[in-house]
Amino acid sequence: MSSIEDEHLVPTYQKFPIKIVRGNRALVYDEKGREYIDLSGGYGVAIIGHSNPFVASAIADQAKKLITCHGSLYNDARENYLSELVKVLPQGLDHVYFCNSGAEANEAAIKFARKKTGRKEILAFTGSYHGKTYGALSATWNQRYRKPFEPLVEGVKFAPFGNLEKATELVSDATAAIIVEPIQGESGIHVPPPDFLPGLRTLSRERGALLVFDEVQSGFGRTGKFWACENWNVSPDILTASKGIAGGVPFGFTAVSREIAASLKPGEQTSTFGGNALSCAAALAALQFLLSENLLERARSTGEYFRGKLESEVLVRHPSLVREVRGRGLMLAVELKIPVKDVILLGFDYNLILLYAGLNVLRFLPPLVISKGQVDKVTSALDAILSSIESRLAKSRQEVHTTLEAEA
Ligand SMILES: *Cc1c(COP(=O)(O)O)cnc(C)c1O
Repeated sequence: MSSIEDEHLVPTYQKFPIKIVRGNRALVYDEKGREYIDLSGGYGVAIIGHSNPFVASAIADQAKKLITCHGSLYNDARENYLSELVKVLPQGLDHVYFCNSGAEANEAAIKFARKKTGRKEILAFTGSYHGKTYGALSATWNQRYRKPFEPLVEGVKFAPFGNLEKATELVSDATAAIIVEPIQGESGIHVPPPDFLPGLRTLSRERGALLVFDEVQSGFGRTGKFWACENWNVSPDILTASKGIAGGVPFGFTAVSREIAASLKPGEQTSTFGGNALSCAAALAALQFLLSENLLERARSTGEYFRGKLESEVLVRHPSLVREVRGRGLMLAVELKIPVKDVILLGFDYNLILLYAGLNVLRFLPPLVISKGQVDKVTSALDAILSSIESRLAKSRQEVHTTLEAEA
């Protein structure tokens, strides 16, 4: 496939040969009208479904009234969203900073933690992903993202994800914040052991460090709870969110306690577009849709169903190719014993848009509105894809065998 994108975009995205022009719920369509089930959910953004009509009309209505309004002025769309948002924030968090992406939300979290504590160090974890701006990147584990852009922000240490003992060794009275994804996304959907997040909560209180939960991927109903941290009944001092919170319109926020908010002064952290009227109207509609359609319950039940099917039709039937199924709600992964790229490319033939995490993990972040019938199609397609890879591997083994015999 040839596209002007290949001519004129900097080549920083892994590209797949399909052009999407339209979407509806868990489906997207290419320019020929071919339908695909979107298991990537636009990287977890289309959480309430693609081009959600309720959000689309809120955007259209707001666009006709007022699109932009800088944070220095009061605005009705921002007020309306804020009044609903504070009702769903974790306990103790009642102030927010609005921005436009996950990286920016984490950037602000790191700055706020340093400002509030007067300390410099950040503890992050192996496998972490917090975004690609300098502060967020500095707390991101993957060397491939970091190395070409050094030097990064100083003072970030890493402990093994899930290892409370090692984290305890690395947190001191120089630690401003511990930043963690309650369930790691980008590195392959890793659910921590049960004592990990509660342990970090205790640790950060004891040492006077702030606890930051990056819920950019795991939040907004994805795991069947509004915030993934609710799975462990733990609340952070700072929570960041973005991805699906405005139905696909760029938006993000950093939520903090009253005490942290009180440590900040006008001018210290601002964003021209942050909290603009259009994003706020979209975010309010997305939030209302999520709650009124009971999508948390749906993420739980469809997630359980999906996971069961992945186990019975993918893991059990293809033990030579599949290592493990894991995740919570509709944040799921299948770890393979083979490179994931072949599976993703074959997926297009079966009308699936699959998402990878690392070299050998298939990650599932579908819209929460995906139906059980669609899940059935997905798992039977994956079954067929893995079968075809198995027979290809068996054939090439046979060929090697035949060649060796002929040579002998
Ligand atoms: C996607 C993601 C980010 C970065 O968000 P951007 O909007 O791409 O900057 C940060 N943290 C987590 C957990 C993410 O999944």
